Amino acid sequence: MSQVFFIGAGPGDPDLITVKGRDIIARADLIIYAGSLVNPAVLAVARPDARIEDSAGMDLARTTELLVGCVREGKVAARVHTGDPSIYGAIAEQMAELDKAGIGYTVVPGVSSAFAGAAALKCELTLPEVSQTVILTRIGGRTPVPEKESLASLAAHGATMVIFLSVGEMDRVVEALRTGYTDDTPVAVVYKASWPEEKIVRGTIADIASKVESAGLAKTALIFVGRAIAPGVMQAYSKLYDSEFRHGYRG
Ligand code: SAH
Repeated sequence: MSQVFFIGAGPGDPDLITVKGRDIIARADLIIYAGSLVNPAVLAVARPDARIEDSAGMDLARTTELLVGCVREGKVAARVHTGDPSIYGAIAEQMAELDKAGIGYTVVPGVSSAFAGAAALKCELTLPEVSQTVILTRIGGRTPVPEKESLASLAAHGATMVIFLSVGEMDRVVEALRTGYTDDTPVAVVYKASWPEEKIVRGTIADIASKVESAGLAKTALIFVGRAIAPGVMQAYSKLYDSEFRHGYRG
């Protein structure tokens, strides 16, 4: 059936796209991808005659025009986003435009960089007795964040946090986090998770900003915060594995 598919390309490693996403890319007539972050290697399966466009220089009107035109010709369009499209993917506005045009679409999820980053850190974000909550957020910038969701107010929960789109402003991030986390709280910055050039910088609230600056990481990175991300954190909580510890559901 001709329609538009919004596809999560995954975090970078071309093997981290879903089978479903890859199959749609392999049969699509038109592929529009976010060139700044989507690894072009995920498009290697595209048909030789597929039209492939980088959305970097396009506005919403232009991408919509291409998608609508493709479907009206009875063809299949793949709109490829980095990670999972539901996280800072700007798909809501695109879907609203397709709704207006009466064009159907499907969203195919992807592996968010949040999870590729957690895999790189080899940590359990929801570590029992440490945190059972993960907050995915960003610091306010040109795109404002609602006041009730300021980093400082979210920090008050002390939960595990994954901060997108903010590594260029480490000083402001740390200042906001200080209101809720102690200075020795572990922080890790993961640059280009799952790409060959992946880098991890580990530190604490007290020293992460200077470490990230020395490493020269200013974009395409995530900031992980909380005791759950500390290497070896399990040793401190080994009683979970104690035979005396009675529990009903360990996953
Ligand atoms: N939808 C994407 C996020 C898009 S917003 C997802 O689910 O991952 C773009 C931001 O995501 C970047 O500024 C960076 O903070 C983060 N990001 C995307 N890919 C990344 C990767 N491979 N490693 C680390 N951070 C990444």
